[in-house]
Amino acid sequence: MDCLREIQGKQAHDPIFIEKMNTSASWRCICVPGPLIVGAGPSGLATAACLKEKGVPSVVLERSNCIASLWQLKTYDRLRLHLPKQFCELPLMGFPTDFPTYPIKQQFVDYLEAYAREFGIKPRFNETVSQAEYDATLGFWRVKSVGVNGKGTEYVCRWLVVATGENAEAVMPEMEGMGEFGGDIRHTSLYKRGEEFRGKRVLVVGCGNSGMEVCLDLCNHNAKPSLVVRDTVHVLPREMLGRSTFGLSMWLLNWLPIRFVDRLLLIVTWLMLGDTARIGLDRPRLGPLELKNLSGKTPVLDVGTLANIKSGDIKVCPSIKRLKRHAVEFVNGKTENFDAIILATGYKSNVPSWLKEREMFSEKDGYPRRPFPNGWKGESGLYAVGFTKRGLLGTSMDARRIAEDIERCWKHEAKHRMAFTRSLLQQPSSDSSS
Ligand SMILES: Cc1cc2nc3c(=O)[nH]c(=O)nc-3n(C[C@H](O)[C@H](O)[C@H](O)COP(=O)(O)OP(=O)(O)OC[C@H]3O[C@@H](n4cnc5c(N)ncnc54)[C@H](O)[C@@H]3O)c2cc1C
Repeated sequence: MDCLREIQGKQAHDPIFIEKMNTSASWRCICVPGPLIVGAGPSGLATAACLKEKGVPSVVLERSNCIASLWQLKTYDRLRLHLPKQFCELPLMGFPTDFPTYPIKQQFVDYLEAYAREFGIKPRFNETVSQAEYDATLGFWRVKSVGVNGKGTEYVCRWLVVATGENAEAVMPEMEGMGEFGGDIRHTSLYKRGEEFRGKRVLVVGCGNSGMEVCLDLCNHNAKPSLVVRDTVHVLPREMLGRSTFGLSMWLLNWLPIRFVDRLLLIVTWLMLGDTARIGLDRPRLGPLELKNLSGKTPVLDVGTLANIKSGDIKVCPSIKRLKRHAVEFVNGKTENFDAIILATGYKSNVPSWLKEREMFSEKDGYPRRPFPNGWKGESGLYAVGFTKRGLLGTSMDARRIAEDIERCWKHEAKHRMAFTRSLLQQPSSDSSS
């Protein structure tokens, strides 16, 4: 069952498959009275729930065959929420009290399933939105989706909510000699656990939260991981001074300027973790919070990887120059043998590939052009949820705002609809006049 799920999930993401379906599709048309939400991840679910609470019905389209497909199909087994649960709750329904501070992946998925049930959200699964365009003559959005069976559907709606996420597609870097490498090369979205790499030399490319955690997982399964660190990176302990580092930072920011908080974080980090530059992890010039605010780059919260780097169980390597049959040549001229390469190179938005609109969303990165907290609303009933680079906290803020905005419009239009219906009912019928 799980296997079938994964195959369908992957098919639904395959551009060649979608193209084939697009050309063979016979289209049908559906008018949606309320908003149409694209994506049934946490952002799509949160928006649908907030709308439901306000009495506005919505339709949710999802390319996979399950909700939260990123979490269910594309993440490794040992994943837990990176942030404490109170910062990851969706609006209107908290986590169960018996959940740990950092829920495991399955607990988070269970919570989202319960959330969807609570608000009666039933996404239309296996529908990949391939195009959405505003029809100015009609004053409606025309949204085309393709199902796994090749059936095409055009939805016509007044409001369109983009909830396809910051992590819609895996980023696969081009590397010289990639076709030549004889071992397994895969993105972290296809990595489940270290078991299959036992005893193997594995090169992990990218030192964000995923890259660091995959290295730790590989160590725990007796593989021999090396980590490519190309850039500077802020590694912070997940907890400091008896509180979560994230929670403490948020609390301090209520009173202190961001640079001061950054200083404080870095001093405590230095006392707890030592000088990370000595193990090959140079820190950026800007502090962790300032950098996050300016560039969206998230600091790494250490869950044990650093100890393995210090002990030599994880080796730090510089950038890759080229791949060879069973080896990797680095920019420092050294060459080392590897059995597998795991690309922890992140994800990107897929909005420019299907949304024919260039004002609200940037064609370059697929994010709203206006920075947080103003990126959630565009023109002509277009909205974005979950593109804040602020995780699930940002999602909750967007979802609430969008629901409030649409509710105002919905109620206003409902008044007109009622008045129109009343006027029709009050008109004397031709029967009674005769
Ligand atoms: C490994 C990892 C750990 C994370 N940990 C945390 C954490 O602890 N705390 C936190 O706040 N954030 C965390 N994040 C950030 C994460 O992005 C959010 O938690 C959350 O998944 C974002 O929800 P979303 O609904 O915006 O996007 P997604 O979860 O990506 O959902 C988007 C949905 O849209 C669907 N979709 C995409 N394109 C189409 C299309 N064309 N047609 C139809 N459907 C489409 C996708 O299939 C997907 O189901 C983590 C991210 C990763 C990768």
